[in-house]
Amino acid sequence: MLGLLLLLGGCTAQQRDVHESRFIMGTLVQFTVSGASEDRALAAIRAAADEMQRIEDVFTIYGDKPNVVKAFNASRPGTLVSLPEEVNRLLVDSLDVQQQSGGAFTPLIGSLSLLWGFSLPQPPGSPPSADAIASARSGVRRGQLVRAGDDWKRLSDQTMLDFGAIAKGYAIDRGMEMLRAHGIANAILDAGGDLRVIGEHGGKPWRIGLRDPRHNGEALGWFEASGDISIVTSGDYERFFIYRGRRYQHILDPATGLPADKSRSATVIAHSATLADAWSTALFVLGVDGLPLLEKRGMQGVLVDAQGKLHQAGRKLLVFHPASP
Ligand code: AMP
Ligand code: MG
Repeated sequence: MLGLLLLLGGCTAQQRDVHESRFIMGTLVQFTVSGASEDRALAAIRAAADEMQRIEDVFTIYGDKPNVVKAFNASRPGTLVSLPEEVNRLLVDSLDVQQQSGGAFTPLIGSLSLLWGFSLPQPPGSPPSADAIASARSGVRRGQLVRAGDDWKRLSDQTMLDFGAIAKGYAIDRGMEMLRAHGIANAILDAGGDLRVIGEHGGKPWRIGLRDPRHNGEALGWFEASGDISIVTSGDYERFFIYRGRRYQHILDPATGLPADKSRSATVIAHSATLADAWSTALFVLGVDGLPLLEKRGMQGVLVDAQGKLHQAGRKLLVFHPASP
């Protein structure tokens, strides 16, 4: 399901747009390249998709293929585990956002994520017990993770890493770097509604719709984007179940261990898709109170609160055009 809708106008460019989709990171990743030959575009897209798949394999905590993040999550508490440079860097960036968001976003949410199971092949469909939540939540505290250079140890077996709220953004940034390295100047890389654009579309800005969180396929409005910018949305419609008439969705409030309930969707606009991804999750948890934090960091936020009201704040990186009612 797409968080953002891609609204591509008629193709006015000399060369036709090249469209390709791949299933990566549990989502349909759509590549659109404009103003390049088909051969060049397809080679670039192949390199970008391979890189994004590599990143999924490095960071995922799901499936049976071993990786270093799963090894860390299974390590004996108190023993040091050495993390490769790339994982180390994303972990440090994640801990920065954890600190800056007052813990609303945290990479230490792994045991809670696995307990709720929204991303498992067969999600449970009913909430876990209060005891199980309290136990998993005990691992989320920052003090439970200790660093010694590039080595890290966890102090409790409830402390597990989950990069699910930031790795997709990182994959988008790396995928876009690959497109550029192959000489692509105009493109959208859209990973299930989280996207980065470069350049323009046949001499005009790309037009990006903001999805209505309660009406699939409808847009609340749109952005016009050109140059180099990322738009990332966290929504309560992405992965959820209804149990006894209540919606339980996949973004958890680390303070309670329960699904965050202040937002329907949270969109962050920033140059880096990595940062936009981490902060969209933080903003979703914080609700309107998170908007000033974005402003302070030169990012832009668009929030649909739990009542369905739209709020905007932050640096005006892009103009949002609300759809007429
Ligand atoms: P996103 O769609 O980017 O908001 O990421 C949601 C995913 O990140 C979830 O499926 C969990 O794996 C993980 N997650 C859930 N809650 C949080 C949180 N408060 N902080 C960081 N990661 C989270
Ligand atoms: Mg995110």
